[in-house]
Amino acid sequence: MGNYFQPQIETASRDEIISIQNEKIVKQVKHVYDHVAYYRNLMDEKGVKPEDIKSIDDIKKLPFLSKSDLRDAYPYGLLGTDLKNCVRIHSTSGTTGRRVVAFYTQADVDLWEECCARAIVAAGGNEDDVVQVAYGYGLFTGGAGLHGGSHKVGCLTLPMSSGNTERQIQFMMDLEATILCCTPSYAAYLGESLAEKGYKPSDNKLKAGIFGAEPWTEEMRREIEKSLGIKAFDIYGLTETSGPGVAFECEAQHGMHINEDHFYAEIIDPETGEVLPDGEKGELVFTALDKEAFPLLRYRTRDICVLSREKCSCGRTHVKMSKPMGRSDDMMIIRGVNVFPSQIETVLIKEGYTPNYLIEVDRVNNTDTLDINVELLTGQFSDKVSDIHAKEKSLEAAMRTMLGIGPKIHLVPPKSIARSEGKAVRVIDKRKLHD
Ligand code: ADP
Ligand code: ZN
Repeated sequence: MGNYFQPQIETASRDEIISIQNEKIVKQVKHVYDHVAYYRNLMDEKGVKPEDIKSIDDIKKLPFLSKSDLRDAYPYGLLGTDLKNCVRIHSTSGTTGRRVVAFYTQADVDLWEECCARAIVAAGGNEDDVVQVAYGYGLFTGGAGLHGGSHKVGCLTLPMSSGNTERQIQFMMDLEATILCCTPSYAAYLGESLAEKGYKPSDNKLKAGIFGAEPWTEEMRREIEKSLGIKAFDIYGLTETSGPGVAFECEAQHGMHINEDHFYAEIIDPETGEVLPDGEKGELVFTALDKEAFPLLRYRTRDICVLSREKCSCGRTHVKMSKPMGRSDDMMIIRGVNVFPSQIETVLIKEGYTPNYLIEVDRVNNTDTLDINVELLTGQFSDKVSDIHAKEKSLEAAMRTMLGIGPKIHLVPPKSIARSEGKAVRVIDKRKLHD
């Protein structure tokens, strides 16, 4: 085997990884203390000095950073270097309404692109591949990250950006794209559009897809793999830590290897901040070990997941993270019950529906209401009202079993829910509008 972009580091022994982390953390904490007044103040408040950090184990002594710190320090307050050394900015997609601006030096861009290159090679990519990058280009990190990674691997890169599905399909076919990079929701939509045009999965030359930037389920993976005739790989990242490529899936398709030479991961109890042992579920916290311009230490991602150090069949030694099981801010509390969109999606696919749905939460007479609009496939559509009604009732029952509360299901005609070209909008919470 041995399909690695940087074999030495990707398969380094545990001792080697720890020794790299020990060396980098000492340097990085000094760098941050000397250059980032905002974080220096947090350290001073906690009574921690750079000299107290002698190895990676000492990281527990450092204060956390959260999204609200990023907002307070906007725009330059967390800059770790002179602005004149920076060559780029990116900004979050604002899933939660607040934008974050991150800065990059050339070295930061290089290390980020190398992480993405590792992901492309792990998905089976090499210089013979044609990589169709259908993530958005611009402030969003998706396009730039995979684009840069594709260059580093030496693939022919198609910088499509998101949208314009007709052209995506035309170039995919005419230029024989072999690897597709986009959000999973857009991949599913492309699969659907290809089928509509009469293409079979075997008509395209795609072999793999690298999909991330939003949550997706195993069920959705199987749908995409079937409709496009590919192997689908997950990729994870966030603007604050550079972008996609912080962690990526290998051929085992079971968890994402975190690039531990650049990003140190911890799982904490989101309530108490206590560090949890590997294998326990909690909030993922990242420390960028060598980023220059935006060197976040102990940044709370709000993504809930589990770390695993089980030996991986691919030969990579870096720790693996599970798919995020929702964001602490993605969770809806409906009539006191915690509900994640991913649970709803799992039921839909199990029951034979598409992952095209829209959740509407509201509050009527002081009671929360949960309505789920679910699109029917062309074959499922019926003009007999009683048929549709029976299907709605049966899906409501399946949802109640999974969620613990009963939603109202509305089956809607095929293609009536708007498709997304970037991150999908799944939830409309109207309660926020009245509060
Ligand atoms: P925003 O917070 O505005 O969405 P980003 O565009 O930087 O900002 O998105 C980062 C977030 O996207 C992550 O914190 C995570 O919640 C989500 N995300 C990224 N990749 C994945 C993935 N592969 N699976 C699930 N969620 C992901
Ligand atoms: Zn692996």
